[in-house]
Amino acid sequence: MTLKLLFVASECAPFVKTGGLADVVGALGPVLGGLGVECRVVLPLYRQIAHLGRDAAVVLDAGSQFGGPVRVLAKRAAGIDLLLIDAPHLYDRPGQIYLNEAGVDWADNHLRFGLLSRLGADIGRKGVAGWQPDVVHAHDWQAGLTPVYLGQADEAAPPCVLTIHNIAFQGNFPATTMGVLGLDPAGFTQDGFEYFGQISFLKGGLMQADQITTVSPTYARELMTPEFGMGLEGVLVARKADLSGILNGIDTTAWDPASDPALVQTYTSRTLARKVANKHALQEHFGLGADTSPPLFSVISRLSEQKGLDLALQALPAILDKGARFVLLGSGAPELEHGFRELAGRYPGRVGVEIGFNEDLAHLMQAGADATLVPSRFEPCGLTQLCAMRYGTLPIVSVTGGLADTVIDANEAALAAGCATGFQFAPTTALRLGDALDRAMALYADRQAWQKVQRNAMKHPVGWDSSAARMARIYRTLART
Ligand code: ADP
Repeated sequence: MTLKLLFVASECAPFVKTGGLADVVGALGPVLGGLGVECRVVLPLYRQIAHLGRDAAVVLDAGSQFGGPVRVLAKRAAGIDLLLIDAPHLYDRPGQIYLNEAGVDWADNHLRFGLLSRLGADIGRKGVAGWQPDVVHAHDWQAGLTPVYLGQADEAAPPCVLTIHNIAFQGNFPATTMGVLGLDPAGFTQDGFEYFGQISFLKGGLMQADQITTVSPTYARELMTPEFGMGLEGVLVARKADLSGILNGIDTTAWDPASDPALVQTYTSRTLARKVANKHALQEHFGLGADTSPPLFSVISRLSEQKGLDLALQALPAILDKGARFVLLGSGAPELEHGFRELAGRYPGRVGVEIGFNEDLAHLMQAGADATLVPSRFEPCGLTQLCAMRYGTLPIVSVTGGLADTVIDANEAALAAGCATGFQFAPTTALRLGDALDRAMALYADRQAWQKVQRNAMKHPVGWDSSAARMARIYRTLART
């Protein structure tokens, strides 16, 4: 029987994306469709996606909420059924979706994502245009109050799943916002949404959701420790029986080296020799010359403390001095942007740096590089290493979260057994990253051995099939209870 599912999320690829959350929300729904789960996504109608609202049908007039008129528009685009929250006073503005033009969090983010959570709960309970979800699935802190609002209602509410994509972002706001958010003060306790005297969207959701998932088995275990739980470890230990770690996948249609329109040359594991045309184009893009024989390392990432790229800045000169090349695409912390620009200045013709967000270039980089670095201090799942493997670009990763769960280190045993897919290093230090880079340099020098690992990586399952089936089982179990 078809199960109706409502996603509540602040990002959804290919429409609006700042990171992996968008990829997951955009890719999982269509895969669930094949498993008899009909998914709709509640998403704010940000200015960045205003075009989606233009010919959309109004399916709900939600009156005045949080200071202005609110409507819900329905639109099917890119195979995804969207329920767009049209609230110009909160979403029709310049800047990024979370940050203003000065790069600072919007001062009314509690209202902006309070409204998302609230509409998620309202549609969950009452349905929209005759469509009533059996299960609600809230994503990250921005939808964290959805289970709280569902729990506050007098009428029966559908069961709710909450997924932690990154516990570093918790949505904590002053207790004085409780009134404007319409939260029941009875919930302002240790067992509710109170968190060290503040309101926490994520904690509230974690206390109230029927099931909690996170995006890899290792991260699920890590979250219950002080080192990774970021203050919420106690909450997760308390909810351990309802917590599952289910590995993210990637959209294997959008990320397919056999058909990717962003590549200058498509290829498969059987036509791996064609991959080099992309390396050539990439080197040209970054002004690194036409010699494709040295190994080309890459980074595609948000530039934040989490991603460990300060370690890359320390470790890269040693291999650059040995002839390696390096390209980076990313933006974020000014000191890291500066550090990589400075590295490019020190190694002209060997290092290329592009500060910004560029989807097409990200695809070309996955195809054109030989290896990609993901030296994260923590990484709930990580998608870049999955995309890299699919493109035969070997990931060099720290042993944490989903990175630990998805990459098989090219140590002697794994090479002999023919199952290696990349390089792992631990602990997360510049020294150990340097060792891994040296091992990659050495393996690259052995073309046959390198190609064998490339082929293994390309064969490694990185799609949603098995994880989507696990999610569907959770929904069906909840819908029956
Ligand atoms: P996170 O969600 O923590 O940023 P993930 O690895 O889960 O990290 O997902 C990051 C996603 O965003 C990947 O699809 C990656 O390719 C993409 N990405 C990151 N930075 C950029 C960028 N500057 N330009 C284009 N895509 C990027």
